[in-house]
Amino acid sequence: MGYSEVRCRLCGVSFNIGRIRRPGEPQSEGWTSVTGPDGFALASGKYTSCTIEDGYQIAVRKPKCWMEHERDEALINLVDNVEGEDEDDSDYYEHVAGPNCKNESGYKGYLITAKEMKGCNTLQCLVRKGSNWRPEPDDQDFELQNNYFLTGISDHMPSRDIDSPKLIPARHGVDRAQADDIPCIHMYDNEVAMPFHTACFDIFMRLSRLRFGHIDINGLMSWYNLEGEWLSVGTFPHDPNVRRSASQWWEHKTGLEYLATNPIFIPRLGPSLRSAIQDSPSFNTRAGAFSLPEFPSIYRSSSNSRTTSSEASQDFFQALPVELRMEVIGYLGSKEIANLRLATRAFRQLPIYLWHRLLREEMPWLWEVWSNDVPYIWTTISAASLKEEKAAREAIDQELTTLRTVIRQEIPEMVEAWIQAEQDLVAGRPNSLLDSQAAALKTLVYSLPVANTNWYQLYTDITRHWSDLKGLHNRRRIWKAVEEIIRRIRMYREQGKVED
Ligand SMILES: [Zn+2]
Ligand SMILES: [Zn+2]
Repeated sequence: MGYSEVRCRLCGVSFNIGRIRRPGEPQSEGWTSVTGPDGFALASGKYTSCTIEDGYQIAVRKPKCWMEHERDEALINLVDNVEGEDEDDSDYYEHVAGPNCKNESGYKGYLITAKEMKGCNTLQCLVRKGSNWRPEPDDQDFELQNNYFLTGISDHMPSRDIDSPKLIPARHGVDRAQADDIPCIHMYDNEVAMPFHTACFDIFMRLSRLRFGHIDINGLMSWYNLEGEWLSVGTFPHDPNVRRSASQWWEHKTGLEYLATNPIFIPRLGPSLRSAIQDSPSFNTRAGAFSLPEFPSIYRSSSNSRTTSSEASQDFFQALPVELRMEVIGYLGSKEIANLRLATRAFRQLPIYLWHRLLREEMPWLWEVWSNDVPYIWTTISAASLKEEKAAREAIDQELTTLRTVIRQEIPEMVEAWIQAEQDLVAGRPNSLLDSQAAALKTLVYSLPVANTNWYQLYTDITRHWSDLKGLHNRRRIWKAVEEIIRRIRMYREQGKVED
């Protein structure tokens, strides 16, 4: 059958996205889609059409995992261009991206940063509870209230016919799950798990709370199974760019890097949100958005609101009181408002709070405007950091066991105190998931104060810098896909097809 890719059921994008690092970036910022985080783009094989003129460079690197490619001895001729030292026979050559890189085994380092791509390969699953399922202290409320629970996370999805993803931690004892976006393929297997990006699940949670008032996991899983055939999954109305990229392997097309960006932690969004928050006590959202000295804060009060100049006699709008002008504006979108401002001086000045409505209506996915919800806790941690922490704990536990044996033999009177100290140490271990969420929240602006935000500034900042905000492009795309899923869940519920 060959490699067969399991993708995110919520957004349609792969879990195996690669990145070709650019010169000067650390090794950890280059990885391939096929071998996972321990592999890297090879400077040989079918993807190497880059030339020195494209800025192509080669780095010497020791692979951490097995790769089927041979060492390409011909590349030794390019040794002057190789960065790194101390080559030996176990070294391989890594393709490092130039500004015009053509390599398609990953998105190019010049076009997207590793920070923007954070979490693009992090997956998690929902699994049906078995009859022996018992609640655990870290369960979320929706796990207790629905028929499904969350697994741990993984940073690599194997081919569907080869293996299933390794999950960390083994929540409810599950360290592997039969994960597939197309459950009907496994009609003879036990329950299939629904895989998704943790960030996409965050967006599902937000929209489900908004539309249903709760997180409807039974509804989501009913949709997953009811539309679980190849054809249904393949014809779901995802963004056309998703369909263009979803071949046997994910195609990393230039210009579509946004598909792999983190839609929650968006490096370039933070400064815009932060600078829109106003600390000055004199700030008022009823003040004028534009700096027009001849229109001093006319929206602060309704007195003297009628224009009496001679212009007013020729301009119907200028004859209207401010309240009525604002009522007219209340029905218009940003483009119509811009046109109206060109047509009449009556709308030259407008209050800042107007853009609060425009942001909500035109960018509903910019949840910082209307919600105080913190990001889904599992979006704040990576499988790699959980694996590192687990390995470090196991090494310490091993050490403790060895020491306990020595103490038991050499100073038996100390054994009791030693065991107590060990138990205290284990009990006092930090909770890495909670710590990681707390650290993420320290730097993230996840909500904006209604009375202290310059909504006009935020609106213009986002529209002006739209091309730099790839994470928001992706957020808008996933939001749209999840809106459609929510619509279908509602339909199935009305048809009585959703399990209780
Ligand atoms: Zn996704
Ligand atoms: Zn290249």
